[in-house]
Amino acid sequence: MIPQWIKSISVVIPLYNEEENVEELHRRLTEVLKELQRKYEIIYVDDGSTDGTPQLLETLAHDDEHVIVLSLRRNFGQTAAFAAGFDFASGDVIVTMDGDLQNDPSDIPKLLQYIDGYDLVSGWRKKRRDPFFRRRLPSMIANWLISTVTGVKLHDYGCSLKAYRREVIKNLRLYGEMHRFIPAVASWYGVRVTEVETKHHPRLRGKSKYGISRTIKVVLDLITVKFLQSFSTKPIQFFGPFGLFFSALGFLISLYLTLRKFLFGESIGGRPLLLLGVLLIIVGIQLIGMGLLGEMLVRVYHESQRKPIYVIKKIIGKKEK
Ligand code: UDP
Ligand code: MG
Repeated sequence: MIPQWIKSISVVIPLYNEEENVEELHRRLTEVLKELQRKYEIIYVDDGSTDGTPQLLETLAHDDEHVIVLSLRRNFGQTAAFAAGFDFASGDVIVTMDGDLQNDPSDIPKLLQYIDGYDLVSGWRKKRRDPFFRRRLPSMIANWLISTVTGVKLHDYGCSLKAYRREVIKNLRLYGEMHRFIPAVASWYGVRVTEVETKHHPRLRGKSKYGISRTIKVVLDLITVKFLQSFSTKPIQFFGPFGLFFSALGFLISLYLTLRKFLFGESIGGRPLLLLGVLLIIVGIQLIGMGLLGEMLVRVYHESQRKPIYVIKKIIGKKEK
């Protein structure tokens, strides 16, 4: 049973050159959504497609009042496409999925059931139908890495099929290729996250838009996310310890060399250790300086935009402002 509080559902789907898939996708999706007996909208985000996708979408929007099509001016990438869709979505629950029919629309009711006790339900493509070496292996490593580093353990960060309560999405800002990290970021804010097994199909038509190079991007994004999680409101705590350690080490090395020079009259000008000592002092001071600059940025960022450093879930007995 779909929870009663869900009165309306938005489905957000990014599409980049998926002309062979659009029509069947819409047909299968509509079949599932009609069954739910709730209000729904389908937001297709055309991410700068250069094939027939935009025309097909336009026809769908024309024929079906549930359809909204957002056409981006160029190919901004899947994350941006999701973000655009989120900005226009008005449902109580927002479901995302891929537009290539690798996700199965028939899993949507299952996600909606689970969201009753949670705020975010993430799909887990347990039997994933992608090539092993090029996709599944990198993805296994990535999932392990993301789970370990972020502390939010999911089997399948890469699965696009997810359902969110509206509040979760409306408080999120997405950058880069970060849509896959939403569960981790959301969970740090106290959002209740779970995962359910979902179906997965091989890509029958059209081409995958990604190759192995995505792995590197994911690792870099992971570093960003982890840094923001741990230090975004206290950057000096990140840079400071390294800075202090390096400059202290550099100071000790230089002290040692100075003593040898003055006590024993040794010549120290040609010693590599001298270079190291000086280098460490400079790097150490730079790191502390970066931490301090970071602290100033944090203040400018939060205070100029009145961004709080906390997230409120609910206010009871609210005073009028
Ligand atoms: N996609 C997009 N913009 C892009 C790349 C991909 O909107 O720049 C869409 C694509 O059309 C598909 C979904 O994102 O609906 C997932 O892409 P794909 O199937 O290529 O990824 P894979 O399943 O191979 O990871
Ligand atoms: Mg795909």
